[in-house]
Amino acid sequence: MNIMLLGAPGSGKGTLAEKLIKNQGFNQMSTGDLMRKEINDKTPLGIECARYMNEGRLVPDEVTMGIVKNFLQDNHNQLIFDGIPRTLNQAKILEENLIELNAKIDKVIYIDVPSEILLNRISGRLVCPKCKVSYHIISRKPKLEGICDNDGTELVRRPDDAPEKVKVRLEAYANETAPLVDYYKNKPGFIHIVDNANTTAEEVYAEVLGAL
Ligand code: ADP
Repeated sequence: MNIMLLGAPGSGKGTLAEKLIKNQGFNQMSTGDLMRKEINDKTPLGIECARYMNEGRLVPDEVTMGIVKNFLQDNHNQLIFDGIPRTLNQAKILEENLIELNAKIDKVIYIDVPSEILLNRISGRLVCPKCKVSYHIISRKPKLEGICDNDGTELVRRPDDAPEKVKVRLEAYANETAPLVDYYKNKPGFIHIVDNANTTAEEVYAEVLGAL
């Protein structure tokens, strides 16, 4: 089974993916993580991605879908699509790529979070550059301040989590990605999770497991 996670930046896609990977044996396909790896490795693709990511803008579809197609050649089952698709065009290309591989998206999980909560979550986020797990300075503190519980690496703030970049990202989500909810909501396998200020990550996970 392949699962797609749909939701704004800060909606908890990465945290949910982490639980599904750890407990249910899924593998993650996070376009953001794949792009950050290219940037760290200073590849030509990474240099191209950085131009957009550093501004909070979406990387062009041709570049993104090249990275995705490459990844899918060897992995196309038990996947969690996290951060892809982000445009209708990406959704259609992804479907075509999967059909060629005799695979499909079985479930689309939409995490619906009010926009005022998103800003708070992103502004307090710290991530481990090594294992990619995210923390929050108030709601998900590491055991030792500033240090990853899993591997002891120093936590960092993502450059695009700065407030002016977050604004651009949320706008990109509203304009380009939110219309995907309408595209998927009447298809089989659509799961709508409502997450408000009081919902914990464990509750979201439990609801997702129930729905799956
Ligand atoms: P978040 O969901 O918190 O925005 P991601 O790691 O998924 O975090 O994405 C970070 C950035 O990477 C995006 O703002 C964008 O620049 C780029 N990116 C990731 N996935 C895509 C995609 N599918 N299409 C275009 N750009 C993407």
